[in-house]
Amino acid sequence: MSVIDLRSDTVTQPCAGMLAAMARAETGDDVYGEDPTVNRLQAQLAERLGFEAGLFVPSGTMSNLLGLMAHCDRGDEYIVGQQAHTYKYEGGGAAVLGSIQPQPLEFEADGSLDLARVAAAIKPNDFHFARTRLLALENTTQGKVLPQAYLARARQFTREHGLALHLDGARLFNASVRLGVDARQVTQHFDSVSVCLSKGLGAPVGSVLLGERGFIGKATRLRKMLGGGMRQAGVLAAAGLYALEHQVERLALDHDNAQRLAGGLAELGYEVEPVQTNMVYVQLGEHAEPFKAHAAQRGVRLSAASRLRLVTHLDVSTAQVDHVVQVFASFARH
Ligand SMILES: *Cc1c(COP(=O)(O)O)cnc(C)c1O
Repeated sequence: MSVIDLRSDTVTQPCAGMLAAMARAETGDDVYGEDPTVNRLQAQLAERLGFEAGLFVPSGTMSNLLGLMAHCDRGDEYIVGQQAHTYKYEGGGAAVLGSIQPQPLEFEADGSLDLARVAAAIKPNDFHFARTRLLALENTTQGKVLPQAYLARARQFTREHGLALHLDGARLFNASVRLGVDARQVTQHFDSVSVCLSKGLGAPVGSVLLGERGFIGKATRLRKMLGGGMRQAGVLAAAGLYALEHQVERLALDHDNAQRLAGGLAELGYEVEPVQTNMVYVQLGEHAEPFKAHAAQRGVRLSAASRLRLVTHLDVSTAQVDHVVQVFASFARH
């Protein structure tokens, strides 16, 4: 029985075309800046997203950390969502490794941070306080796309307050595909962006940090310090280039599959949150553990959570989505 894994879009396997591109990749020592495939990936994505430069790194966690550390010095502060990956799911790296103080705020229902509340959290210029330097947003966040008008306001706001604006764009292309705009329309509002190649884009490894040349120079030094300098990394960058060429537009299929799954579950009477991209959230309450076991016996791999997240990706077909709906249908809730 082939397993349908809905825990995350990080579980995808590299396809034959991607593996062939990796096998063909020209490589060099990237710590010397001599890997032509890494250089091509960095330049191509920078051009595509409207930045001067890019930096290939092993993970989104490192990419975000380098972004925060390149923007902020010791004793500086960044404002971030309470549930944001950069704050909650990265081991406290900004504080541990950067001596950067986080100021988390609750997300609004749409995944934005209320700019009036951000303004109230900015510390006055007084030696009692950390220096507020940066606002970090996430797009998509829990599958939600931040409104473009909000990003324009956040840009204006951070300019007025002298803050830098960073985007955790782990799923940037899910946002741009859903909006039907060029990804550059999203990234134009930011000083720096982190993009994951290993989520819905389906590469096995890698993220890219983008920004101005001087900023990327600083991040390159920090990458070395953190042990993220890789050598013949072109084999990995080739997977990223393949993903950017072949696996961006197809994200729309994942979004359609997520809609189909949500529709099927709603018809069965489940409480499902509105779907925008590739994530479906359904309330299971106390049924989470028994349902996880029920699903596992039927070839569906899930996390166990009362608010269950189901993630569609390139290794989940429409037929498999229909199977998942059947698995829910066959589960007795009493
Ligand atoms: C996955 C993810 C990251 C980076 O995660 P890595 O596993 O370190 O690559 C960052 N932000 C968000 C929102 C993510 O989902």
